[in-house]
Amino acid sequence: MTVNRLRPFGETIFTTMSALAAKHEAINLGQGFPDTDGPARMLEIARAEIAAGNNQYAPLRGQQVLLDAITSTFGVPESHVLVTVGATEAITATVLGLVEPGKEVIVLEPYYDAYAAAIALADATRVPVPLQPCGASWDLDVEAIAAAITERTAMIIINSPHNPTGAVFSRPALEELARLCEKHNLLVLADEVYENLVFNGAEHTRFYSLPGMSKRTVWVNSAAKSYNCTGWKTGWAIAAPELLDGIIKAKQFMTFVGFSPVQPAVAHALLHEDAWVQDMVAGLKECHDILVSGLRYAGFPVHETKGTYYVVADVEHTGMDGIEFCTQLPATRGVAAIPLAAFCDQPEPWKYKVRFAFCKRPEVIHAAVERLLN
Ligand code: PMP
Ligand code: GLN
Repeated sequence: MTVNRLRPFGETIFTTMSALAAKHEAINLGQGFPDTDGPARMLEIARAEIAAGNNQYAPLRGQQVLLDAITSTFGVPESHVLVTVGATEAITATVLGLVEPGKEVIVLEPYYDAYAAAIALADATRVPVPLQPCGASWDLDVEAIAAAITERTAMIIINSPHNPTGAVFSRPALEELARLCEKHNLLVLADEVYENLVFNGAEHTRFYSLPGMSKRTVWVNSAAKSYNCTGWKTGWAIAAPELLDGIIKAKQFMTFVGFSPVQPAVAHALLHEDAWVQDMVAGLKECHDILVSGLRYAGFPVHETKGTYYVVADVEHTGMDGIEFCTQLPATRGVAAIPLAAFCDQPEPWKYKVRFAFCKRPEVIHAAVERLLN
């Protein structure tokens, strides 16, 4: 039994593809999670915190040490910060706390699946607008977004660096979007969980920092991608207190608070592990290059990754669409990937696009490439 508003949602594509990968002992380049740990000192602090008894409820907004680290790292007042159970809770609490039933929320296609579920839970309506091709990557289509705005539009959800395409939205396009949001008085949920993972000369623009945007933007981030700790589910939302109020009201009855002992560890990482992050990103770039040249050698046209740890390949020449391709790949090649069609309401332009994650050790990426070539 499932309530109507959740009935359209099946098992997530990540669960499906990870299960197929396990069944066929495939190398899992589907679900995005690294196969190495985060900074050693960060892990040590978490262990020490458990041993020292930091095992009870944190305050509602988060432990002071993490609030301090977030305020100083991102240059915002403490009244603007809420620690959440991953970016996922920040996203869901933002939509539940700030969007009335029946209102419209614009999402950019292909979009991360949690947005659609949050919008459905809020009994709001999702309005998808596709990204537009831009060189070998993609960018915002601000004209198409403008055309999608109605008097019911309450919010737009943006995500840059972008999962699943690996695009990083250009500053001029984001500035134009900012003007549009101002004109139509829209809220913006800016999911920037991959902000540290940018390559190939791309530059990430923090939407919250654009003129006039801090009052209408909920800036979502997480420790997961920057410090290789996707299982810690520790993220945060940054927003003006008038917006944070609604988000807190939703959050306090979803989880009340997050996991205590990792909060000082994440605080340490924010304050002291920039060099580790730079090394990690350099390592990712190496894995990106191995995977991209392997995919090209295997005959796949490959799109440009500007950020995230994903690369998109085109599989049209195989005679299969992306879903068919990804469904057979674990069994036939021993590799798992994710079809972009799974992130779309209008899959046509994305039908042959497939996402591979390169957040694995170089030897694992080499092994995956060998399997794709055989
Ligand atoms: N947003 C995007 C775009 C993601 O790819 C993910 C998955 N890592 C999340 C949010 C969720 O992050 P978390 O694991 O911190 O909940
Ligand atoms: N964010 C990761 C991805 O896009 C994992 C998402 C998940 O498992 N829900 O692959």
